[in-house]
Order: sequence, then C-alpha cells, then structure tokens
Amino acid sequence: MNHNELNGLIRKWLQNEKLLGKDVIELEGGWQFLRFSKNITGEETATSILKGASIKKCNEDIATKKASELEDYYYAIKNCNKCNLYRTRNNLVFGEGNPCSKLVFIGEAPGREEDMSGRPFVGEAGKLLTKLIKEMGLDRSEVYITNIIKCRPPDNRDPLPEEIENCRIYLEHQLEIIKPSILCTLGRYSTYYLLGLSGPFSSIRGKVYKYKDALVIPTYHPAALLYHPGWSGDVKRDLKLVMEVYDGKFAESCGQGKTGTTSI
Ligand code: URA
Repeated sequence: MNHNELNGLIRKWLQNEKLLGKDVIELEGGWQFLRFSKNITGEETATSILKGASIKKCNEDIATKKASELEDYYYAIKNCNKCNLYRTRNNLVFGEGNPCSKLVFIGEAPGREEDMSGRPFVGEAGKLLTKLIKEMGLDRSEVYITNIIKCRPPDNRDPLPEEIENCRIYLEHQLEIIKPSILCTLGRYSTYYLLGLSGPFSSIRGKVYKYKDALVIPTYHPAALLYHPGWSGDVKRDLKLVMEVYDGKFAESCGQGKTGTTSI
C-alpha cells in the first residue's frame, strides 16, 4: 500500500471517528492527515496532523471535499497507462499537501525515492525544498507539492514532450480542485509547459506570470540548486517574491518592474 492509499484509508477512519463524536485525533509520525477541531471561537477547522499546521482560511467542509476529490482523482488515474512510463514505475506520484493551499509547488517528475514511496519531493532535492519552504516561514504541510509528470522517467532522464502532453491534464485537474492563487514552478519543465514559454530559464525565473486564475513564479529546481549552490541567492529572491504575493504585497512588486505576464 502506498502513501496515497494509506492516506485515503486513514481519512475515512478519521471521518468515521468524527461521526462517533471525536473532534481531535492525534497520530504519531510525519504523515499528513486531516483532523477536525473547533478553534477558540467555536469555528470548525480541518487541521493537518503533520506538525499540527492549520489549514488556514478553509473550513472543514471545503477541506474535506477537496481532499476527497483529490483522493478520488488519485484512484481514477493511479493505473494510468497513457505512456510507457507505467511499465517501469512502482507508484504514480500524485502529489500531497494541504488541499486548500493557496500556494502549489510544481516540480518536474518523480525520482527514485519518490517512485518507491509514492510521495513527491522526498529525496535529496525534496529535503532542500522542505528547507526552503521552512525558510519562507511556512511548513511543508501548509502547501501542496506535485509534479508535471506523475511517473518516474527511467534513470531520471528528462521527460519527453509527449509524456508531458499526456500527463499535464492531471496537474490541470488537481489545480482545478485546489484552486491555488500562486504556483511556484520548479525548473524548466513545469515552467515552459505551463506557461508556453521557451528561452533561457535564467531570464524567465523570478518574474510573475499568469496561468488561468493563478499567479506563477518560476524558480530553479532544488536538484539544480544542489549542483549550483551559487544560485541560492536567486532562489531566495524568487521565494521572497512568492511570499510577497502570498502575503498580498504583490502590487508593490509590480511597481518594481518584476512582472512578465503570460497566460494560456
Ligand atoms: N524532482 C522532482 O521534480 N520531483 C520530485 O518529486 C522529486 C524530484
């Protein structure tokens, strides 16, 4: 059983426990499940168990609905065989995180550890991403993390254009469910395909673009950052811009000529 299947089972169990009148259920470990509680004003909130981070501005009904839509969608696509990647994968890596997050990180494709565990960004690049998210003042459990390609390309080769074309509809549907207002694309593949751009990534990153209703800020992929630690200043600047948008201070950034908008 992979992470998403386990996640689904535990969510059902939690919902059952709630029906039995238990509002808060604590679990050990770093898994990310919803628990239900009332805040000090008596308002019902859904809270991620992973480090107890709250799903902000999202009531229990919406969180539960989005989580269950994502879960249903995972089960609908988990045996996808639209391209040859299904022959070598161990798990389709769907994505994980807060179903109500206004910020979604979009990487390229699962690597070996992601393929084995069924979870995105859990290898070395993932550890770096988790650290960068922390430095942004957020917890990994507060955001949603996924990839443009859901299955591991053998030997971590670059995704093929037809693989991306086949797979991108899955990402698009996830985004329709989550409805984030900010996308942070990690590296060339998710950026180029989502925004329909080409050209040197160094001149594309660090600006604000538009994809449907969301603002998009591309930055270097954490795996690239591991090879080029000198890019960390640029990544920190890009993520600072993400936080300005996150905190609603984007208008000030626009005035500083950081915007390069496009849409598809
Ligand atoms: N690199 C990615 O682009 N995605 C992952 O999930 C892991 C590594």
